[in-house]
Amino acid sequence: MFRPVPFATTAEAFIRAPATVLDSGTVPTTRFKKRSTPRSNLADTAASANIVIHGESGRAISMDPRAHLSRQLTLELTFAIIRSGEAMDIPQKLDLLGLGAQADLACGSCGEGQKRVRDDISRWIYPAVRPDGKLIRMLKVLQTNACEKDCFYCATRREREQPRTTFQPDELAHLFDQIHRANLAEAIFISSGVAGSSTRTMARMIATADLLRGKYAFRGYLHLKLMPGAESAAIERALQLADRVSVNLEAPSSEHLAKLSSTKRYAEELLAPLQIAKRLIDHEPKLRRKTMTTQFVVGAADETDREIAARTAQLYRDLRLARVYYSAFQPVENTPLDGHAPTPLIRENRLYQADFLFRQYGFTFDDLIFDARGNLPVESDPKTIWAINHPEFFPIELNRANREDLLRVPGLGPISVRRIVQMRRTTKFRAIEQLARVGADEKRAAPFILLDGRVPTRQLPLLPSSR
Ligand code: SF4
Repeated sequence: MFRPVPFATTAEAFIRAPATVLDSGTVPTTRFKKRSTPRSNLADTAASANIVIHGESGRAISMDPRAHLSRQLTLELTFAIIRSGEAMDIPQKLDLLGLGAQADLACGSCGEGQKRVRDDISRWIYPAVRPDGKLIRMLKVLQTNACEKDCFYCATRREREQPRTTFQPDELAHLFDQIHRANLAEAIFISSGVAGSSTRTMARMIATADLLRGKYAFRGYLHLKLMPGAESAAIERALQLADRVSVNLEAPSSEHLAKLSSTKRYAEELLAPLQIAKRLIDHEPKLRRKTMTTQFVVGAADETDREIAARTAQLYRDLRLARVYYSAFQPVENTPLDGHAPTPLIRENRLYQADFLFRQYGFTFDDLIFDARGNLPVESDPKTIWAINHPEFFPIELNRANREDLLRVPGLGPISVRRIVQMRRTTKFRAIEQLARVGADEKRAAPFILLDGRVPTRQLPLLPSSR
């Protein structure tokens, strides 16, 4: 599918070359010859041809329009992965850019595990849950998989050899319009590699969103990723256009992020856009309904659950994030972390359980109990662990306890508690079997409750010896 072509000797030739695929093993030392070429011209031409040029440091060449190539003339392209997207058709681009977006769960999609038809556009369309709880079908896609960042776990990182391509705003907007009109999806999630700069990348994503909302009159659900270090004006425009925005923090602190990337700054580039978005949502009445999410890669930075949960609790409290997502680290070939052990899925599950306790059960970070390593115990869920460690709290009387106390009982959830409170207005709970009728797990709840002052009794199954 991808055809290497002879190497160009000038930047302009690089840009003209169709389907150029160069990598560090094949790029000769190259000098730009036209000393007067402004760097911005080069950048604009490269962008229009879907090319990202990486300099000798591996960073994409600056797109700063004030910079001129005169300083860049001696730049030697000792490392480059340059690809023109012109030879790639839209389905090929979607294959690459849909694949690149697959691992991002901050959009609330149900992830990679879903069974999808291969060799079909629908493989990039995921079931997802909208903020109001409605199940929707969402196209997950990158604007570009060119990236100047070096996240050590990421398949899209700058040093990793792979074909790169970019959706121009109208290509992506038009593609989604067709998908939407064909009733294949009613929502879109757009993320991106950082191609050139956050500003330039955000501009391209916002142009896509603008076209969707304007030219294509799309009124459905739109989730935009905010690039690291995104500027206030871009964040504001993203919030105006999208229903939800997100920044993936990936790690709970700057120290942990340093184990995952040498090119991202935690406070300035990742936390700051969320803080700016929160201020805008708080102060702009028209943005009041917009929401934010984030995602952690679990286990890649050798962080503990305690550290992730502490950061999560702070994000819910201070930035009022709608959701935090967790993704158990799985090594990707040809990345610096490909020798790192994968994170067991049980860690991801336990973090989601703790997260639900924060959001729906009134638990705080101080309620969580961790093991000696600082992780949530794997042998049982965090709510049951809390109950076992608080014998002074139980048993509680099911017919009188308030909602908050009922939510502490293992086996009872927000829905069953609501039903219990409703039913208590007209009925008394006297038998444990009544709990099954409200959707509770009566076996788990039984050791922790009283029914009208009595310890619940259950009909025991017949033992083989009693037959
Ligand atoms: S910023 Fe990091 S995580 Fe995002 S695409 Fe680039 S390398 Fe991957």
